[in-house]
Amino acid sequence: MMKSQTRVVVIGGGIAGCSTLYHLTQEGWSDVVLLERNDLTSGTTWHSASQVTNFGMNQTMVGLKTHSINLYKELASDTDHPINYNHADGGIRLANTEEQMQGYRHFASMARGMGVDFEVIDAQECQRRHPLISTENLIGGLWDPLDGDIDPYQLCHSLARRARNAGAEVCTDTPVTSLDQYKDGTWKVVTEHGNIDCDIVVNACGYRVNEVGAMMGVQHPVASMEHQYFLTEDIPAIAKAGHRMPLLRCPISDYYCRQDKDGLLIGFYEQKCKTWGMDGIDPNFVNALCPDDLERVADVLDGAFARMPAIMEAGIRSVVNGPITYTIDGSPLVGKIPGKKNAFCIIGLRAGLGEGGGHGWLLAQQIVHGEACYDTWCIDPRRFTSHANVEATSLKAIEDYQNEFRFHFPHEHRPAARPAKTTSLTPVLAAENAEFTVVNGWERVEYIKPYPDFKPSLSFHFDETFDIVAKEISNVRDSVGLCEVNGFNRFEITGPDAQSFVDRMFCGNITHKTGRVGLGYLLNDFGMLKSEATIANIPSSDRGPKRMWYGSAAASEFHDMDWLYQHINPNEKVEIKSLTNEQTILIVAGPKARDVLSACSREDWSKESFPWLSVRECFIGFSSVTVMSVSFSGELAYEIHIPNEALYAAYLTISKAGEKFGMNMFGSRAVESMRMEKGFLSWKADLLTEFDPFETGLDRFVNLKKDNFIGKSALKRRLKVGPRQKLVTLSLDCTHAPAHGGASLIEGSEVVGTITSGEWGHRVNKNLAYAYVNPDKSEIGTKMLLDLLGEMVPAEVIAPCPYDSSYSRILS
Ligand SMILES: Cc1cc2nc3c(=O)[nH]c(=O)nc-3n(C[C@H](O)[C@H](O)[C@H](O)COP(=O)(O)OP(=O)(O)OC[C@H]3O[C@@H](n4cnc5c(N)ncnc54)[C@H](O)[C@@H]3O)c2cc1C
Repeated sequence: MMKSQTRVVVIGGGIAGCSTLYHLTQEGWSDVVLLERNDLTSGTTWHSASQVTNFGMNQTMVGLKTHSINLYKELASDTDHPINYNHADGGIRLANTEEQMQGYRHFASMARGMGVDFEVIDAQECQRRHPLISTENLIGGLWDPLDGDIDPYQLCHSLARRARNAGAEVCTDTPVTSLDQYKDGTWKVVTEHGNIDCDIVVNACGYRVNEVGAMMGVQHPVASMEHQYFLTEDIPAIAKAGHRMPLLRCPISDYYCRQDKDGLLIGFYEQKCKTWGMDGIDPNFVNALCPDDLERVADVLDGAFARMPAIMEAGIRSVVNGPITYTIDGSPLVGKIPGKKNAFCIIGLRAGLGEGGGHGWLLAQQIVHGEACYDTWCIDPRRFTSHANVEATSLKAIEDYQNEFRFHFPHEHRPAARPAKTTSLTPVLAAENAEFTVVNGWERVEYIKPYPDFKPSLSFHFDETFDIVAKEISNVRDSVGLCEVNGFNRFEITGPDAQSFVDRMFCGNITHKTGRVGLGYLLNDFGMLKSEATIANIPSSDRGPKRMWYGSAAASEFHDMDWLYQHINPNEKVEIKSLTNEQTILIVAGPKARDVLSACSREDWSKESFPWLSVRECFIGFSSVTVMSVSFSGELAYEIHIPNEALYAAYLTISKAGEKFGMNMFGSRAVESMRMEKGFLSWKADLLTEFDPFETGLDRFVNLKKDNFIGKSALKRRLKVGPRQKLVTLSLDCTHAPAHGGASLIEGSEVVGTITSGEWGHRVNKNLAYAYVNPDKSEIGTKMLLDLLGEMVPAEVIAPCPYDSSYSRILS
């Protein structure tokens, strides 16, 4: 008999749900219930190829996969209920281009910081470790020593058993049919066998994610693809090898392979792939498969045959074709459901067996403590906003499926579901040869191409845009540049309690003066960095009453909105309205920026009348705009916030005014370089929930004397303990490649730090990087080595803000 009340209801009994339930009990919550419509594992999990790998493209992914591996090892060695886990067969990701090898070297450097030893090996070594493969058209690969495979049924039952032993309840044959939220934010979960009230619900429903999403009025950006593998009969060479075959992942011909008995399991990512369940899913699709269709994978099969001729001799034992979920960017959605109180999800898992142990762990931490031990932005469901609908997701899912093992290169943006978010300037700038990058769905100018079909190579080295970016920057430094920043997150905060609310949210002093702008930081309850935002105090005018504009990173809209809403006290009168999709910023930056503004507006732009960090409503030509004197470039600069309907008109006015001052466009690549020269930080690259403001060097933005702010007591406790790491600026002795986020800094054989950002500083002529390093390595002048794409490059700590540290240019 199911209980009628509990703390958390987890819906779905695949690996995602079982791992979450188990980890909730591990975090100390035992009054938790899992509801499964059929049997445990009866969705996708039962037929998974169940490979467990350690590879990830950032440290959070590597860390969570390491957790899975350690957990599975422990479950496998349970003396009473052991489970089948072929641990540490090893695995190889193949490569046939030097650029792929560069990527592997970077991922090896990044994983080293997480205590994981990947190895980059040549083609002969690949063959030595996997005797079935040929070295034809092969340069080498990445060796992951801990790869293996696990029995998915045993794994889930083992997790469920342990959760039950800790007090959790598991109810099978209990379909959830609706979800009703009470006024206080708690839930009534309706099932075919009665109702259960709970504080928190978790959607872990695999390919039925959107059936359950619809019950709470949410459409998740998750789509399913059909995915096939087959199992071969025994292959004599395997039995003869004397060791188990390592796993293989092939980006050249799009298949994977692992040993199964004395044969192989080979899975395919065919180009002629198929979405599944777009128009609804048969309720009886349980423990079920899609019809086989080996015709579809014929091209991939040819590649696999060429690499492993021994397969051609082996018969096919069975074929499995089942639905696998993808999200809009390929990474799962694990965390808080945007805009919903007390609702979490663990969905869109496309490698759920390998990752599920780790995702359930990070989700349980978020539910119980509000935050996980790693920064979870790469899996946060709030990282996309309005563009992430099911149609766009299915296009991205197809693209991701077709490129399954081909990782994204730096600055690579693939074409599916683009353009999603544009402004009236997008086609205008495209006609002026703009190349676009994508930020939260927005097409943002990256740089201006020298000719229309200019295409830089995909590389981890500096590429052919180097001189183009240098020229854009020198124009900003010496004259004036124009840049469109669309999708910048902006909320209007109003109401009688708006000021005290904002004061409580920020850890430092935020200016109360109207007409002024201030930068500040928001902390979580652990005193760690949650967000960065500017507050602009706009005086009352014929456009509206006195109000505050909260501005933060383009991708942070749902994240910051959730965080702010969550902290409005029941007795507080505060309203927050998003203007993100209503306005666009044009930045005019450079020593002649004032001249350009003076030429297109009747205001007094002198520094006495409109000093740095001012805000005013005014007109550019005849367009109503709001201008702020703030600068991310380190030059005299103005941000012009323009309602989208007036954007083109304002652009024409500013462009015309800029002509005689030599104004040219500059893009996001130039901005990235310039902000690093100024010591400015980037949210979710440098500003992470794993560090506090003192570790990040933001001491001047903290006021511990303030009455109260979120995270204050935790921060005071942290201050007593001292920093675990410190953010520093580095100069690298290398001219051919920038540092990439995640790369490891080394002293002797020890990792002493991790890169967060890297770019060439064109005005200071230095290869710059930011990194968190051990405190004893943070002094200016400290030297260490950076594992940069497998090469040991000298790195030296330099003073932050290497360009114009006195701010004379911004203040001019
Ligand atoms: C052919 C194939 C091979 C794969 N190989 C690998 C691999 O080698 N390695 C790897 O890591 N991953 C692999 N995957 C992916 C992996 O299997 C999935 O990521 C994982 O199984 C997803 O688990 P899940 O718990 O999210 O979903 P599911 O296993 O689908 O579980 C969801 C559960 O929710 C239940 N449910 C749905 N609606 C309701 C409701 N209304 N009420 C109650 N319960 C409900 C369902 O019955 C189901 O049991 C493979 C997938 C496929 C298709």
